[in-house]
Amino acid sequence: MEEYIAELNDAQRAPVLQKDGPMIVIAGAGSGKTRVLTYRIAYLMHLGVDAFNILSLTFTNKAAREMKKRIADIVGPSEAKNLWMGTFHSIFAKILRFEADKLGYPSNFTIYDTQDSQRLIASIIKEMGLDKDIYKYKQVYSRISSYKNSLITVKAYFQNAELVEADAMAKRPRLGEIYEKYVERCFKAGAMDFDDLLLKTNELLNRFPEVLAKYQNRFRYILVDEYQDTNHSQYLIVRALSDKFQNICVVGDDAQSIYAFRGANINNILNFQKDYDNVQQYRLEQNYRSTNNIVQAANSIIDKNKTKLDKIVWTANDPGPKILVNRLLTDGDEGRFVASSIFENRMEHQLGNGQFAILYRTNAQSRAMEDALRKRDIPYRIYGGLSFYQRKEIKDVLAYLRLIINPKDEEALKRIINYPARGIGQTTVDKLIVAANHYERSIFEVIEHLDRINLKINSGTKTRLENFMNMIRSFQVTNQTADAFVLAETVAKQTGLLQELKKDGTPEGIARIENIEELLNGIRDFVEGQKELADSSGSLAEFLEDVALATDLDQDTGDDDRVALMTIHLAKGLEFPYVYIVGMEEDLFPSGMSMNTRSELEEERRLFYVALTRAEKQAYLTYTQSRYRWGKLVDAEPSRFIEEIDDKFIEYITPIDTYRYKPLVDNDIFGEVDKSKLRLKKPISGSPPPAHKPSEEQLRKLRKLRPAGNSASTNDTSIFDENFGPGTEVEHMRFGKGKILKIEGVGQDRKAEINFENGGIKNLLLRFAKLKVL
Ligand code: ATP
Ligand code: MG
Repeated sequence: MEEYIAELNDAQRAPVLQKDGPMIVIAGAGSGKTRVLTYRIAYLMHLGVDAFNILSLTFTNKAAREMKKRIADIVGPSEAKNLWMGTFHSIFAKILRFEADKLGYPSNFTIYDTQDSQRLIASIIKEMGLDKDIYKYKQVYSRISSYKNSLITVKAYFQNAELVEADAMAKRPRLGEIYEKYVERCFKAGAMDFDDLLLKTNELLNRFPEVLAKYQNRFRYILVDEYQDTNHSQYLIVRALSDKFQNICVVGDDAQSIYAFRGANINNILNFQKDYDNVQQYRLEQNYRSTNNIVQAANSIIDKNKTKLDKIVWTANDPGPKILVNRLLTDGDEGRFVASSIFENRMEHQLGNGQFAILYRTNAQSRAMEDALRKRDIPYRIYGGLSFYQRKEIKDVLAYLRLIINPKDEEALKRIINYPARGIGQTTVDKLIVAANHYERSIFEVIEHLDRINLKINSGTKTRLENFMNMIRSFQVTNQTADAFVLAETVAKQTGLLQELKKDGTPEGIARIENIEELLNGIRDFVEGQKELADSSGSLAEFLEDVALATDLDQDTGDDDRVALMTIHLAKGLEFPYVYIVGMEEDLFPSGMSMNTRSELEEERRLFYVALTRAEKQAYLTYTQSRYRWGKLVDAEPSRFIEEIDDKFIEYITPIDTYRYKPLVDNDIFGEVDKSKLRLKKPISGSPPPAHKPSEEQLRKLRKLRPAGNSASTNDTSIFDENFGPGTEVEHMRFGKGKILKIEGVGQDRKAEINFENGGIKNLLLRFAKLKVL
């Protein structure tokens, strides 16, 4: 037996040692699911499986890199190099590049990020002369995104009377047309958006059996982490690829499913055993991450959810300190408390900043934390804010690079055709767009053929357009010989971008120049790094692909010792010794927008479960008495989730302790904490529960709800049916009150026939119709 196998407990070892066949590991947080995947890959390689034949899909590219590093430690770096690991988007973007011509795309297709997509949609809405207050581009974008993730193509959309009617009822009868135009424009620009990367992969695998066969043979072993948050489109890809060999291993935790709002479908876990023959189910029960207090508190929370699989999570770790709860007056106080507490813990326990994380429900909450950390000189890093690659000056440089690679890229062209200013006005650009739509060509092609089109553009403008075109063409020539770094540097200088910022002279302008330098450094590192890799040439196209798919979490270099600030959604899968969960208030967490149905509230509760289970040693929960929201100071109530934790696991920080964290700046507008306003719970007595493995007897009792055998009750999907059923009275945002007549279909297709008091009988897809149970 290889020695690393000894680093697994018996339950973890079983799925690692089972070489072939479909298997699913459903287990609670911190029980070693990700470790099982990592070791399983190493072991497969020991058994002689070629790295080329293994595909593993992770939630972030950072997670993939970490796994690869661990595997490289075990099997050796050269072996690990050939593993295909990454997010769905990054892996399938690579495959689509190889196969692009089959779908009519150029292999150098651009990947539109969310901002590109939204800008294009806004421009289509404008071109169609629609009211932008009714057709809000962000809403239209997310609607189109959810269609794509459910594999509802434009054609399927128009064939689906229900969807068409729903959009018409929502006063957006032309949504389908926007969708159609958007798809055409992306195609014409040689661009795929994020959702296309999955949608087009499905199309590729469906339409071309020989391509499917090729990748089925290639990826003989497939592994998926965080399977509970896969959407329908991802599910279909995994299923198609694993269909031949059926060597598929998925791991997940239904209690950590937190992306339903983006189309994640928990049924993918629940139906897994129906999709394959002889599925082996494994469960892991021992948590290695957190103290016993944290594990048990987390269990007590998730217990409140009705919709869940029975699971046991216990730990042999120490009880640890109780979860500390603190109530503050304002978010400013909250920030100061957290900063002071980090400061003190750091001193007292001799810790680095990297041992701390501050988690919040919404990005807006980071500001108060940042202010306080800055005042204390505590280095921090915000994840998931405006990422480096989304800064204006960076996007400008990237837009040039994109256009050089793919001159059809409409969004890139529109961005820089007149930046830095070169006398090409918006009216001219509008004329070009109209012509491009008319001739079904890209804007760049229209510029190339200006002589043959009567565009009513004066000769001065014409010359300027030709100069622009020639500049891009000359960069294309450079690109044939120079590497990505040299090209990017040439672009920054010759386009006048850098001069423009230098002229500016303000501190912001200087910071922008520094950012561009940072980008160039990044490109240089990339070029150097890629030269070492066998399957890569270090080309500009590859760099741009990496950039388009980089999430902010991915840019972590890992070696900087800073406090991590991020939303709970981003924290999934991560762990930190000290975790502060801030803003534990009603309407904020649970979110005010998620309290309409039980299922929404349960998703918020799972989110809280995820947050708490990130902590290894100590968790803090804070809330305020009043908070600025939408520009107004509003009274805040403590989150129901605090109440839901069993009292024996928490302790309120006393006023004396709070007083210690008094504001650092004397003239602070909020002054010191007003002690008289602190309502205190009585200190809680009683010792924490035993910190050892439960006896077999206890475990049997815990398991008694479960059917016999080594199986969780995953084939029972009825528990996920919510409260809906024939006879249930519901309310719909547009149709008003009604009674459900029947429910049919499963998963994404579940629909209800409802008799509305004022609207008659309607068939609604449950995943789109937000029904409130009355
Ligand atoms: P999550 O649900 O949050 O994704 P997980 O189930 O993937 O958690 P891991 O991240 O794999 O859990 O493991 C949690 C922690 O416990 C990690 O630090 C891991 O190294 C450690 N761990 C897992 N198994 C063992 C083991 N058998 N012995 C010692 N440490 C372990
Ligand atoms: Mg994990």
